[in-house]
Amino acid sequence: MKSTLPRCLTVVLALGTLAAIPAGAASYRPAPAQRVTILYDAFGNRAGLTRDWGFAALVEYGGRRILFDTGDNADIFAANVRALGIDLSRLDFAVISHRHGDHIAGIQYLLSVNPGIAIYAPTERFGVFGSSLPGSFLSPDTLLPDSLRYFDGHPPARLSFGSAWPSAHFQLVDSTIQIVPGVSVILTVSDRPGTLELRELSLAISTPRGLVLLVGCSHPGIETILEASLPIGGHVFQLIGGLHLVSTPDSAIARIAAALHDRWRIDRMSPGHCTGEAAFAELRRVFGASYLYAGLGTVLELP
Ligand SMILES: [Zn+2]
Ligand SMILES: [Zn+2]
Repeated sequence: MKSTLPRCLTVVLALGTLAAIPAGAASYRPAPAQRVTILYDAFGNRAGLTRDWGFAALVEYGGRRILFDTGDNADIFAANVRALGIDLSRLDFAVISHRHGDHIAGIQYLLSVNPGIAIYAPTERFGVFGSSLPGSFLSPDTLLPDSLRYFDGHPPARLSFGSAWPSAHFQLVDSTIQIVPGVSVILTVSDRPGTLELRELSLAISTPRGLVLLVGCSHPGIETILEASLPIGGHVFQLIGGLHLVSTPDSAIARIAAALHDRWRIDRMSPGHCTGEAAFAELRRVFGASYLYAGLGTVLELP
C-alpha cells in the first residue's frame, strides 16, 4: 500500500532510520521498488540479454510483484530473467495478455519455478488456457437413438475443455476486473481481420499521477483499450508495451500517434514489441522528451 507520507519525508525518515542502525546491521530495509522491467523484446541495448520477438515485463509496485506475459521461448525467457537477477518464485500473480505464442511460451518456465502461481488470462470459448461450457450447449435431439447421442444422451452438467498447461492455476477473466486494490485487468475483444474475436487483457496500475497501462499486442486497437480503461482511472499517465502498428500505413500511424498525444494526453510513452519501427519513429517525434525508451532490459521507474 502506498504510504500517506510525502516521498521526501519518507526518504528523510528512512535516512534517519539508517543513521540510527549500526553499520552492517541486517534490519534496514530499503523502500520497495516502484518500477517496470522489460524481460522480453526484440530490441534493447542492455548487454547480457537475448533479444527475441515477443513480450514480457515485471511490475513491482506498492509492494506487489506482477508478471505480465512470458515471451516467445521458455529458454530465452529463463535466461533473461536469470541474467536480470529476477526471482519469479516470488510473485503475487501473473497476467497473460492473449493466447499468441510470443506471449505464452515462457509459461513453461514460470510454472517450473512457481507451480502454484495464479495466472490471469482471458476467457476463450475453446483455447489454450482451458474453458468450460454448460452441457446444454450440445443442443439435444431426444428422438435419436442413444448410440448417436453425445454421452448416450446424458451429458455432464458442465463440459470442461483442456488447457495446454493442465497443472496451471488459470483465473479466466471475462470482463474488466480489479484483481487487488489499485491493480486491474481490462478486457477488450478484437474486431480486426486476422485476430477477429481474439480477447486480450491489458494491465492497469493506479498511481498518484494516473494509470500505468501495460499492453501486450493491442490487437483490439490501442484506442479501444484506452476507452475501456476510462471507468478505472480516467487518465493514462504511462503506456508501456506493444501497439501493433508494425504493418500499419504511415498515415494511420500519424493519426494514432497524434490521438495518443492530443486526445488521450498520455504523459509518458514507452512503446515496445509489435509497435513497429515506423511507429517508434513517429511516436518519438510526437512525444519528444516524454518518449521513454523501453527495450529489453530497460527499467522504467514509476511514480
Ligand atoms: Zn498477439
Ligand atoms: Zn505479440
